[in-house]
Amino acid sequence: MQTLEVRPSTINNRGCFTLVPVGKRKRLAAYRGELIRGKRRIAERLRAQTAAGVVKIIRLGCGTRAIDAEVGGDATAFINHSCAPNAYMREVPGDQVMFFALRDIAAGEEITIDYRDPDHPPAGGCRCDAPECRMSRRRAT
Ligand SMILES: [Zn+2]
Repeated sequence: MQTLEVRPSTINNRGCFTLVPVGKRKRLAAYRGELIRGKRRIAERLRAQTAAGVVKIIRLGCGTRAIDAEVGGDATAFINHSCAPNAYMREVPGDQVMFFALRDIAAGEEITIDYRDPDHPPAGGCRCDAPECRMSRRRAT
């Protein structure tokens, strides 16, 4: 059953929305994509995606493996950053990354995580609108 959908988002053009309610700490989805190996290969793809403005790579472990949603990715590739997210991601055994609900999430809500990851800085500042936003452009003006 498809429970996630890509829709227009105020955060970053498009986002990942849940079609069903998700309880706190419940599993949302796995990050789909191609498993790639080798720091050089990962770095090359990161460079190309950074230049293109959309990074869909999540590094695993110490960084010698990664999941690239550019190939075989689904709605999870569109999960945006928020400084007050409603979900989080965890690496789980078997070279997989899972998303879990940080709180109860209602049907129709956009799924957001806190990237805290140098690979994924929100382009041009953050538009999450959270009062605790760490990167808001609005605050700076
Ligand atoms: Zn923010």
